This record gives sequence, C-alpha cells and structure tokens, in this order.
Amino acid sequence: MASDSLWDVVIVGGGPAGLTAALVLGRARRKVALIDEGQPRNQVAKQSHGFLSRDGMTQSAFYKVNHTQLEAYKNVSCIRSHVDHVQRDQYIFVTLTRSNEKIRSRKIIFASGLKDQLPPIPGLQEAYGKSIFPCPYCDGWELQEKPLAIFANGKHMYGYIQQIYQWSKDLIVFTNGPTCMTDIEWAALEKRRIKVIEKPIKQLRIKNGGELASVIVEGDQSVPRTAGFIQDTGAIQACLLPTQLGVHLNEKGCYETNRHGQTTCKGLYIIGDAQAYFSGLLGAAADGYEAGVQINRELVLEEWDRCSN
Ligand SMILES: Cc1cc2nc3c(=O)[nH]c(=O)nc-3n(C[C@H](O)[C@H](O)[C@H](O)COP(=O)(O)OP(=O)(O)OC[C@H]3O[C@@H](n4cnc5c(N)ncnc54)[C@H](O)[C@@H]3O)c2cc1C
Repeated sequence: MASDSLWDVVIVGGGPAGLTAALVLGRARRKVALIDEGQPRNQVAKQSHGFLSRDGMTQSAFYKVNHTQLEAYKNVSCIRSHVDHVQRDQYIFVTLTRSNEKIRSRKIIFASGLKDQLPPIPGLQEAYGKSIFPCPYCDGWELQEKPLAIFANGKHMYGYIQQIYQWSKDLIVFTNGPTCMTDIEWAALEKRRIKVIEKPIKQLRIKNGGELASVIVEGDQSVPRTAGFIQDTGAIQACLLPTQLGVHLNEKGCYETNRHGQTTCKGLYIIGDAQAYFSGLLGAAADGYEAGVQINRELVLEEWDRCSN
C-alpha cells in the first residue's frame, strides 16, 4: 500500500457498524481502507439474533457473507491489523497499523466497539455467550421459560428484572452483595415469586463447556439454574485513540457524538457500540449507513467547492 496516496476514508473496526459504513462508502465510489483486528464484542456467542435475514447465523457465517459482498468493491480494502496510532496533520488523518501500514485519509470513522470486562466470578467467563448473556432481546427467545439467574444490582436492576420476566417467570436474582430497592419493588418481586439472593457469589458451576448448572453462594449453598442474564458486563472502550484527538467520553464511557456520529474533531466520526453502549447488530449497521451517507455528502461538498475555485 503506497503511503503517500490519499484515501477518502479510513474505518477502524469491522463489526457491523464499520462494515456497513464501508459498503455505503464503497458504493458511493469512495476509496476506503477498513482496518479490523477481528475481535467483535459478541465473538463469545455462537450465533447472532435479531438481524432480519441473518437471524440465528453463526458468527463465522455472518462475517463471511459480509466480507464476500464487500469484495465486489475493489475501491474498498480490508486490512486485518490493529490500529496503533492516529494523528491529525492539518486536515488529513494519518493512521499507523501494527503491520506497518501508514494510511493518509480525509476522514476517519471509529467503529471500534466496546469490550466486556466481566466481574471476577469463577465460571462466569466460561458461560458468557454460551448460557449467560447481557441482552434478552438478543438471546431471550432461546432461554424462554427456563430457570434463569439474573446477575444484577444497582439502580437499573429492577427495570432489568421486569424486562426479563417477559421471557421467563422462573427467576432468581443474584445481587452479589447488599442491594437497595423500595418496599414497593420488593413486594412486586415477592408477588411474582422472584427470589433475591444478596449473599456474595462464590462461583458458577458449569457443565459441557459453558452451560450454567448452579450458582454457589456464600455458605456453599448451591442454587440450580440453567442459564441467565447479566446486567453489568463492565464494558469499556476497545480503542481509546479518539481521546487523543480531543473526543470526550460521557458518564457511561461512550464517545460523545451527534446523531450522525460526528464528533468535535472535524472529519472524525464514531459509530456503533463505541458511542451507543449497546447498539445491537442492526443498530450498529444503521449507524454505519447514516455515517457513510453523511461523510459522502461532506466529501461531495468539499470537492464541489474546490472545483468552483
Ligand atoms: C455475548 C453477546 C451476544 C450478543 N448477541 C447479539 C445478538 O444476538 N444480536 C444483536 O443484535 N447484538 C448482539 N450483541 C451485541 C453486539 O455484539 C454489538 O452491539 C455489536 O457487535 C456492535 O457492533 P460494532 O460494529 O459497534 O462493534 P463490534 O462488533 O464490537 O466490532 C468492533 C471491531 O473493531 C475492532 N477494533 C477495535 N479496536 C481496534 C483497533 N485499534 N484496530 C483495529 N480494529 C479494532 C474489534 O476487534 C472489532 O472487530 C451481543 C453482545 C454480546 C456481548
């Protein structure tokens, strides 16, 4: 790759947000470099759900079909690497990869996602994405009417329990320490026979490489459960490079952008989970579409003005 050529757009991250932006910009005849190290947030899960036409697809099939379709656009280059450094040089972004590519571009999109940093409960990592999930809209259908554990605490816990009750009525909540709810909330859970266990969790007993069997709490009490949901997965940014270019994180740890993904750093866009916390595959793809159209509009206007000078 010639380091002196100027690309229209570099995209950091090739999950659904980055791939969709690449497709839209590719079809707009833009020269695009998509750099991805291939660690999407849902890589621990076997299948993806809720993306019409892709429902129930395995991760590998999902990415294979996306890359096959992008290959038709020779103006889009997909590079498997890690972006180590990005700097702004006047109005040009200079991107350096771990595999020594140096790419100069007019615009840059970070579609770099979040990574989950689960609480250190033995067994949790093994079950995450196999029988314990963060989102009932993604995986609730498969767990319906099962005896479920809910791992949650804090001010949004009650709302999370209410949501999951739609998929199963057999719920036990593990707060892993003291919790605080109103008397009305406690009474509402009791009425629905939803037990809350505040004792510290010692470990999860897992069978068959990821299936939850029981939750062991302090005092060696074993509570049988076959699957579950976890509310707080400790998600953090997978890539902090935008902060070096002056983009701020909000109180949830997501990048601040406008609704097209535009940031305060002109020409730098952030889309998908990195700015929305949990956009889901389709939401992230929609962000990619929106930002792709917006960036192409900007490029068109810049070229139009230059031509009339
Ligand atoms: C267990 C689990 C199951 C899920 N199941 C579903 C589901 O069934 N349906 C659904 O709609 N949603 C699901 N989600 C949510 C979904 O995974 C995310 O909302 C979605 O992946 C966000 O897309 P994204 O493109 O923003 O980021 P990601 O898909 O996370 O992609 C970001 C990409 O950027 C790359 N990257 C980051 N930094 C760099 C760097 N410096 N250089 C190069 N590359 C970089 C990463 O390696 C990654 O490939 C699930 C999430 C989890 C955790």
